[in-house]
Amino acid sequence: MGLLSEGSPLSWADTQAHADHVRKHGIEQFINQYQKLKERKNDVLYWGDEVEYMLVKFDDDKRTAKLTLKAEPVLTSLQAKEKESPENHPTTWRPEYAAYMVEGTPGKPYGGLLAHFNVVEANMKLRREEITKRLGTNEVPLSLTSFPRTGCPNFTVPEHKPTPTSGASRSLFYPDEVIFPGHPRFRTLTRNIRERRKEKVAINIPLYMDEKTKAVEDLTPLGDDGESQMAAKPENIYMDCMGFGMGCSCLQVTFQACNIQEAMRLYDELTPLCPIMLALSAASPIYRGRLADIDARWSVISQSVDDRTKEERGIEPLKTNKYQIQKSRYDSTDSYLCERHQPYNDINLIYDQEIYKRLKENDISELLSLHIAHLFIRDPISLFSEKINQDDTEDVDHFENIQSTNWQTMRFKPPPPQSKIGWRVEFRPMEVQLSDFENAAYTVFIVLLTRVILTYGLSLVIPISKVDENMKTAHKKDAVQTEKFHFRKEILTDCTPDEVTQCLANTKCKECSCIDEEYTEMTIDQIINGGDEFPGLIAMINNYMSSVDIDVDTRCTIQQYLNLISKRASGEIPTTAQWMRNFVRTHKDYKQDSVVSESINYDLLKKCVEKTGCCLNDFSKTSDNIPTALSKAEGYLNKKNPPSYKNVTPVYEQNGDD
Ligand code: ADP
Ligand code: MG
Ligand code: MG
Ligand code: MG
Ligand code: MG
Repeated sequence: MGLLSEGSPLSWADTQAHADHVRKHGIEQFINQYQKLKERKNDVLYWGDEVEYMLVKFDDDKRTAKLTLKAEPVLTSLQAKEKESPENHPTTWRPEYAAYMVEGTPGKPYGGLLAHFNVVEANMKLRREEITKRLGTNEVPLSLTSFPRTGCPNFTVPEHKPTPTSGASRSLFYPDEVIFPGHPRFRTLTRNIRERRKEKVAINIPLYMDEKTKAVEDLTPLGDDGESQMAAKPENIYMDCMGFGMGCSCLQVTFQACNIQEAMRLYDELTPLCPIMLALSAASPIYRGRLADIDARWSVISQSVDDRTKEERGIEPLKTNKYQIQKSRYDSTDSYLCERHQPYNDINLIYDQEIYKRLKENDISELLSLHIAHLFIRDPISLFSEKINQDDTEDVDHFENIQSTNWQTMRFKPPPPQSKIGWRVEFRPMEVQLSDFENAAYTVFIVLLTRVILTYGLSLVIPISKVDENMKTAHKKDAVQTEKFHFRKEILTDCTPDEVTQCLANTKCKECSCIDEEYTEMTIDQIINGGDEFPGLIAMINNYMSSVDIDVDTRCTIQQYLNLISKRASGEIPTTAQWMRNFVRTHKDYKQDSVVSESINYDLLKKCVEKTGCCLNDFSKTSDNIPTALSKAEGYLNKKNPPSYKNVTPVYEQNGDD
């Protein structure tokens, strides 16, 4: 999770004293790299996934499932293999926030061949095997978005007790030993977030209110001095530290674009898909041993690292702080980057004026300058003494310090210095699924969408405030079936770039109603599978595939993945969250009180283990063939008369300028 500088972490007071220094030099570092790399072109469209695993230990006699705090030795062993042959090892491993987590990625990013879609799942399977080999009997890696009983008494092996009056988190529920011990970053972040905020973080998640659910919990027996009881809202699941959020797992996908312009375009076009994919991947309906009334983790993490003070949150008038800030540093993207999308940036963006000026002086575009100056309203929340003084022409640690602690739904990643890597964007909202098959399906789906977007010049952009509304909707219980999302009606844009420029020159544009007529409300089923007017994203992908050279094997693999996505969207296959909620509610030990007891948790996680190896047929017996949607999409594409798409060089072989 972000930058892992080695060394001795400074206290919060010392870190804060250096905040302006970090920002000032961080910006110079960005500017220097930007000037060197802005013309970089002809990079290949590389991509790769990240999967975070939790290490779970079962006790079949006691019927318990607990998180085992073995990540450090397991990781050391996994990385030893990688270090032996860094050039051609098939997997790479990184630490994560908790001592029960590891993050695995493919050894090399995937690249220019459609056949690569055939190896995604196999690589994920291999990663799972590599971890499993390093675990003991009755221990397994689960790609579980949130562990149901995190923060319940004795939820780990070995057991530890929380320390509400000392240590990094001061949590009533989450012992500091559960934070990954192998790198000081994680504990330092935990402490500094709490100290910067001047109180513990307060996470409140709507509780699923069943017949016998208690609306209020007495926290005094846990050692609360009153702070938590004040912060805990009735009919909510209350949590009080970073680990509840950062100890969740996710599925991320990073793309390398051929140049900076294409990266900005992908960033913008994928932004509206973030809430859609969050809802479609929803997999986390249980927190701290209770059923929640939401299905997805995002807002839990958002609240878990919210280091804003009362002044910044608008609870007290501004005195010592500079800005009122609308969102946590972990939240959805606040602005689009491409100039043509400026009219869609309808959120009041708070940014650092000095930094903005400095970026503009260096001929950095308006919207990129605003984006970076917005990220830089945050303080660095960890700093290592050895890293204070840097060479701004070569180093980027200060820039990365701020960048990598702005955890947004999308991340715009500049090329690292002195590397072969190009401009990249990261798609970060998705919940991790239980099986390799599902994780491969979501990964491949989003990769294919980027190809379709670039090949046909699609635009999915809607006002960014509507994307925010969609994020809220996406968390809701059963959002896939019951909610509607703002979505663009015409994704084959009518406007040529010239027209957009003209439109932008017209100062009235921001108010003009045309933007509001561009989007409507759709269900996820309509967005994915098509509706009356809209052909659906799957149909667009199928259309794309029929225009490129693709072997039968790969086509079949992709078809299975698209079938899963399609059936999740239609409700034929439940989301992981729905399946879990239903499992709990129908369990023989469930007492209609929203509590997920040790024994329910044990049975649920045993079922999760069974699901790790499943394929489409395990979800549904009626997996059908190539969708009929193809012809529908052709009609749509022809109707709009797009830049004759059959002749567009598939992006895969393009390698070049946009
Ligand atoms: P993060 O900073 O998000 O933790 P990681 O280093 O874990 O990033 O890598 C994220 C993904 O990016 C991995 O799947 C990796 O294979 C992939 N990746 C590595 N190099 C490139 C590249 N040049 N282009 C695109 N993806 C890449
Ligand atoms: Mg990670
Ligand atoms: Mg990573
Ligand atoms: Mg994480
Ligand atoms: Mg990542």
